[in-house]
Amino acid sequence: VFANIVRAPEDPILGVTVAYNKDPSPNKLNLGVGAYRTEEGKPLVLNVVRRAEQMLVNDKSRVKEYLPIVGLADFNKLSAKLIFGADSPAIQENRVTTVQCLSGTGSLRVGAEFLARHYHEHTIYIPLPTWGNHPKVFTLAGLSVKTYRYYNPATRGLDFEGVLDDLNAAPSGAIVLLHACAHNPTGVDPTLEQWEQIRQLMRSKGLLPFFDSAYQGFASGSLDADAQSVRIFVADGGECVVAQSYAKNMGLYGERVGALSIVCRSADVASRVESQLKLVIRPMYSNPPIHGASIVATILKDSNMSHEWTVELKAMADRIISMRQQLFDALQAKDTPGDWSHIVKQIGMFTFTGLNAEQVAFMTREYHIYMTSDGRISMAGLSSGTVPHLADAIHAAVTT
Ligand code: PMP
Repeated sequence: VFANIVRAPEDPILGVTVAYNKDPSPNKLNLGVGAYRTEEGKPLVLNVVRRAEQMLVNDKSRVKEYLPIVGLADFNKLSAKLIFGADSPAIQENRVTTVQCLSGTGSLRVGAEFLARHYHEHTIYIPLPTWGNHPKVFTLAGLSVKTYRYYNPATRGLDFEGVLDDLNAAPSGAIVLLHACAHNPTGVDPTLEQWEQIRQLMRSKGLLPFFDSAYQGFASGSLDADAQSVRIFVADGGECVVAQSYAKNMGLYGERVGALSIVCRSADVASRVESQLKLVIRPMYSNPPIHGASIVATILKDSNMSHEWTVELKAMADRIISMRQQLFDALQAKDTPGDWSHIVKQIGMFTFTGLNAEQVAFMTREYHIYMTSDGRISMAGLSSGTVPHLADAIHAAVTT
């Protein structure tokens, strides 16, 4: 009965790793996947995470019962505090409902399914470009996806006029997906002043902000600074939807830990929203996994462990920033044609190099360097040892 099934293409991002794994070259370099690597090119488990896991294992009173549909209560409270700020009036007024979901992707999906069922406007505007999974998540949840201009290839920076024009032309009430910080794939974020203008425009038109926060702490190294975009929207008292992921900032990728928060206008509305979120979640996966959320809650509820986390997070962010400088310096030293200053200006895990699909294919073929065909490279996959190889490859790609 399945004989006629057509083979599906590999995922454009995860497929890069599939191709990388098949390459026997000892010099191969995977800059496709958005996961942090050490200077030695190894995945990193944070010390504070190991410590929290040890505490969980040693606690013999812990059992493996099901969590409630909305997940671990402590985790939800602490996640809301992390993104909205410990002194957020919205939290104090109980206007926020937070549910534990399956990392960032699952939080986006639950949020989108909820909006498709209960929000009057079904169009969501996503930035052009955006993370490749966004359009699929939203379409399959029942929303209709449109784009707004975001990136200007000529300046390799923000097309701010384009953002404002397109949001201004959006129908009143439309949903707008915003990357809270460290925009993926471009590494280009609005300034705080620009965020404020975006907020004013969106509120004046009644557009609903849906923040994707997958990199809190990774952009600047400061958890609070990276949450400013979200916080200015919450501070005006209006509604806001936020998907949070702990994949990158706590290195909990495979544990699938995330949260969806919906900020409402009153505590009563928030509790009705939560009751409907439960109806979305229950038939999808019943309730979320316990281990990863327990790690996060253990860390966030202890001030020493939280501090230790921020230090380790900052070290990851700083290593990425140093990779930007080293790659930029290496290209300068080689006199590689073109302006490469965007490598140091862009923010977060990725650099949107400006290399085209042909140049990317050349670098993969000749230099065994793997990245997505849009020219996005993960700075977290680079090290001092591999920067020269990448600089050689980029130089060759733009000069041959
Ligand atoms: N949003 C963005 C912008 C991302 O880059 C990612 C991870 N690549 C995610 C969401 C979701 O990641 P996860 O489901 O692993 O938390």
